[in-house]
Formats: sequence, C-alpha cells, structure tokens
Amino acid sequence: MLVYEDVRKRYGGFTALDGVSLHVNAGEVVCLIGPSGSGKSTLLRCTNALEAIDGGEVRFEGAPLPKAEAEIRRVRQRMGMVFQSFELFPHKSALDNVAMGLVTVKKLAADEARKRAQALLAKVGLADKTANYPANLSGGQQQRVAIARALAMEPHVMLFDEPTSALDPETVGEVLNVMRALAEEGMTMIVVTHEMSFARRVANWVVVFERGRVLEQGPPHQIFETPTVERTRDFLSHLG
Ligand code: ATP
Ligand code: MG
Repeated sequence: MLVYEDVRKRYGGFTALDGVSLHVNAGEVVCLIGPSGSGKSTLLRCTNALEAIDGGEVRFEGAPLPKAEAEIRRVRQRMGMVFQSFELFPHKSALDNVAMGLVTVKKLAADEARKRAQALLAKVGLADKTANYPANLSGGQQQRVAIARALAMEPHVMLFDEPTSALDPETVGEVLNVMRALAEEGMTMIVVTHEMSFARRVANWVVVFERGRVLEQGPPHQIFETPTVERTRDFLSHLG
C-alpha cells in the first residue's frame, strides 16, 4: 500500500534521505529504528507530503503522492499521524478534540460527531475522560486522545513518530497497548520508536536507519536476534 523507491531528501547541502526503498503492505506494522538524525522522521514527513522529496518516488495505494496542495490534502486524510508532542487543542475537551474533525472534515452533524467521538474515546480506554481538557489529562491519556482523533478520520495507514518518547514511564504502556490493539485489528502502521520490546512483539517488519539510508531490514526476529550488519548490532547493544 506504500512503496518507497529510492527516495531522496536534502536540506540545503545536507542529505537527510539517501535513496530509501521500502514496501509496506496493507495490515503490516513496520517499525523504523535507528540513531538520532538518521532520517526516520523525515521519511514519515515525506510519506504524508509534509515535506516534498527531491528524488525517487513515494506511492500510496497505487498512485504517486500528488504535488498540488488540494490533492495532497485529500491523500493526507487517508493517513493518520501521531507525534511525540500530542498537539491537542488546549481549549477543547477530549471529546471536542476528537469530534472537531468529524464535523469539519467528515461533515457529520454535531450530535452524530459527538457520538462517534465518544465511541472512539471508549476504544482507547478514555470513556470516563471525555469532558477533560488536555491540561487535566496525563501524557498517556493525551496521547490516546490524539490517537482517537487520528482514527476519527478513518485513515488507511497510521504514522507514529515516537509516540511514547515524551511520556512518563508509567503511561508508556497504556499507549503501546492501544497501538498493539490497533495492529491486531489490522491497521497498517509505520511506527518510529525506541521501544524495542514493542518493535519485537508487534512489528511485522523492522527497518534500521543510519545516515539517511536503510542499514538493514527484516522481520523482528532477524533484526534483533541475528542482525547481519555489524552496525545494527552496535546500535542495538547501545540501547542498553
Ligand atoms: P531523531 O531520532 O532524533 O528524531 P530522526 O531519525 O527522526 O532523528 P530526522 O528528524 O529525520 O532524524 O532528521 C534527519 C536529519 O535531517 C538530521 O540530521 C536533521 O538535522 C536534518 N533535518 C531534519 N529536518 C531539517 C530541516 N527542516 N532543515 C535542515 N535539516 C533538517
Ligand atoms: Mg525523529
């Protein structure tokens, strides 16, 4: 469903993606790992055309990413994105954060949108927090609201950029559990993460980045147990 072919991205003289090729099939969970600055976030931003690529091609559901802003917006609606920082609207309740897009984008009537938002918040374990404002939710709860908000758009793929990196350790698990449940439902997911136990257990495919290139890719057991590239072993051993 997502095909990257020799994708290149430069920032001025700096090469952030240096010929990345990758296939993501429908229903797969692909985890992107690798050192800081290796291009993981850049690849996600090139996936939903937050950044334009300089070479190669990204194809989503059979078609290259469009160039025109109006078409890009339509494609983006089929991609949910969840960031490290939750980026909820602080002056809106959890319910309204989720319901908003249902009204503005999906054109649901207000009461229909609220019902749907309620169900989505229940799905991420927040049925009793719908009236809370972001300031009155833990980090893990805010991130689950952000996931519910993304799911409201009925995306065909979910892109996660270090969704648990900003969380207190005690709330990491609740977010990972929601993500794992989503994976089990068959959602196609690309997840940038430092949570190796999540990658090991949930990913179908693990991609190791280094300096804008794919160092190694394969099923988790191969990457974590029998990596063929020396620097993959180095990277994994330094994670502690
Ligand atoms: P991290 O694990 O720290 O999040 P990453 O693998 O996500 O790292 P990217 O954010 O993709 O790394 O960045 C890849 C490289 O591109 C980095 O060296 C970064 O400094 C550079 N870069 C990213 N965005 C820009 C930008 N807008 N302008 C210039 N350089 C950039
Ligand atoms: Mg990053």
